[in-house]
Amino acid sequence: MTALPPAAEHTRAEVCALHAELLRWNLVTWTSGNISARIPGTDLIAIKPSGVTYDDLTPESIVVCDLNGAVAEGRHAPSSDTDAHAYVYRAMPEVGGVVHTHSPYATAWAARNEPIPCAITAMADEFGDDIPVGPFALIGGDDIGKGIVATLSGHRSPAVLMSGHGVFTIGPDPKAAVKAAVMCEDVARTVHLARQNGPVERLPQHHIDALYDRYQNVYGQRRGTDS
Ligand SMILES: [Zn+2]
Repeated sequence: MTALPPAAEHTRAEVCALHAELLRWNLVTWTSGNISARIPGTDLIAIKPSGVTYDDLTPESIVVCDLNGAVAEGRHAPSSDTDAHAYVYRAMPEVGGVVHTHSPYATAWAARNEPIPCAITAMADEFGDDIPVGPFALIGGDDIGKGIVATLSGHRSPAVLMSGHGVFTIGPDPKAAVKAAVMCEDVARTVHLARQNGPVERLPQHHIDALYDRYQNVYGQRRGTDS
């Protein structure tokens, strides 16, 4: 094991703490779900260990890997989704955080292979479009990562519903990716509820464009800021 850069310990602590948000917002069950972050100034990422319960996560248990998913430091094996995370970091240099959940409402849309239509202003603000569906891919290797990158490259949405699987979100930092995962489940639930009593119509594109532009560029002065 080589010595880690000083930023690694800060990123490990941040990734560990952010996992509590997945529990707080009811996005995960048992050991499912994971968060990773790029360690600033390095070609390393910090990611949840595989099979460790949320109560047992500590900063030291967070595994440091290179951008090919090989372990650089850690007592545990990294998340079984590490290949997917690593692929995203390799392909999208602007990404600083990746989150994966099987949050129930969003995953129900993924099980139907149905994008979530951009039908409410909060969704236009945050996602700027429908939340798209990515291809079905088996775990292990680069297939999930390729599907995430192919779907989200050039797309406003920081969230993708991987067909028959669940949600992956990206952000400039891990907190932004967690926020996208929380908001994805929130809008998945709201649009689902709306459809129980009738059809749901997508907002007109010019309204989506105006809302997205205001929220991303004016509101709060920076992209992805909290309300
Ligand atoms: Zn999964």
